[in-house]
Amino acid sequence: MKNVIAMDGPAASGKTTIGRMLAERLGYLFLDTGFMYRAVTLAALQRGVDVVDETAVTHLSTTIEIGARPPAAEEQDGRFYTALLDNQDITWAIRAPEVDANVSQVASYPGVRAEMVRQQRTFAAKGHCVMVGRDIGTVVLPNAPLKLYITASAEERARRRWHDRHQQGHAASYEAILADVVRRDKIDSSREHSPLRPADDAIIIDTTGRLPQEILEEILNMR
Ligand code: C5P
Repeated sequence: MKNVIAMDGPAASGKTTIGRMLAERLGYLFLDTGFMYRAVTLAALQRGVDVVDETAVTHLSTTIEIGARPPAAEEQDGRFYTALLDNQDITWAIRAPEVDANVSQVASYPGVRAEMVRQQRTFAAKGHCVMVGRDIGTVVLPNAPLKLYITASAEERARRRWHDRHQQGHAASYEAILADVVRRDKIDSSREHSPLRPADDAIIIDTTGRLPQEILEEILNMR
């Protein structure tokens, strides 16, 4: 598979920021796969489907339409893309604490993962894309010629998430965010199907205390 870059890493490691910058510099398409698992979670919460009901959530994931497009002129509110669930704008709704609290449970279901992976591979088939997630290098695109695993200390990742939340106008305690980041890392790394881990041939980059621009240049020099 040519011209695809797989990027994985834990929550708020900087992978989305760096991946987006990288795609922009290379003129590649960008897909943040986390938004898809968030969309399934939001759909379950909105429709009263119990997130612990694996069969019901798996069925739901195959019946909804998840999409993304560049923001329209009237949607310029700091978003990088508009996320859609059955054509409804869910860009900010998928960032709510209730989605954070339930998304790792939903993402642990193999049937949900199979459906998301199918859609992600279709996206990557044309090449020229940067795809970001937890299992891109290990499961979704195991033949990607460049695989990166972006990480940072849990404290730094929680600080970044806290900063994002405040910028979006949400009051959130640093301690609560740190607890959520640590909890999600634990579920994501210990789940049976497609756990979060670097691919054997991934290059590991620790972003703690480093600026995205500096890391971007480092990655561009690898190619
Ligand atoms: O990247 P983000 O924090 O938005 O991802 C939300 C959740 O979606 C993760 O905590 C993880 O449980 C799940 N996820 C996943 N596989 C991916 C991307 C995200 O399991 N490729």
